[in-house]
Amino acid sequence: MAKYTGSKCRLCRREGAKLFLKGDRCYKGTCPFERRPVAPGVHANMRKKVSEYGLQLREKQKTKRIYGVLEGQFREYYERADRMKGVTGENMLSLLERRLDNVVYRMGIASSRSQARQLVTHAHFTVNGRNVNIPSYQINLGDVIAVKENKKENKYFTALKALEKDAAMPKWVEFDPETLTGKVIALPTREDIDSQIAEHMIVELYSK
Ligand code: SF4
Repeated sequence: MAKYTGSKCRLCRREGAKLFLKGDRCYKGTCPFERRPVAPGVHANMRKKVSEYGLQLREKQKTKRIYGVLEGQFREYYERADRMKGVTGENMLSLLERRLDNVVYRMGIASSRSQARQLVTHAHFTVNGRNVNIPSYQINLGDVIAVKENKKENKYFTALKALEKDAAMPKWVEFDPETLTGKVIALPTREDIDSQIAEHMIVELYSK
């Protein structure tokens, strides 16, 4: 599968927004986007007015980058969301939020989605007691995500035990650092999801 291996910070500059792709560094003064919030490239400031199509395309690219999803899979999320009842854009965001790697990130187990993805692919978790190492695995209401018994003494996870039990996290998930176990206690609603995404523009793009 093709994978972007370039600079993550460059992607933020390209999208003109902080995408929070590098964990703790994104919250420090060393964030390159804060120091230089312009698109990369020598002609960055000479770009012409962007068309409506261009804006929709950028919104889609930005969202794909936030969740670390490639084009084919992203389109599948849209098509699945379109077949569901309710608002397509919100359904699509809900499906993206309920990817296992994103849920691990939301629970505060990882500082970025890419780190969460790596933890998942390295087979550190169970979902409802079963081993799962697929980052795109869809989590449902009531699912219990836990660090595997034989991984709990791993240095990375023992450090998590120092976290506050009520550390800030979205209200649809909970995580107990003592037992290294979390649960999805509600389905994410639009208000729970980063508002910097204009999902209606993505729906307009795909429904052309
Ligand atoms: Fe983006 Fe984070 Fe890099 Fe800042 S530090 S440019 S928010 S990835």
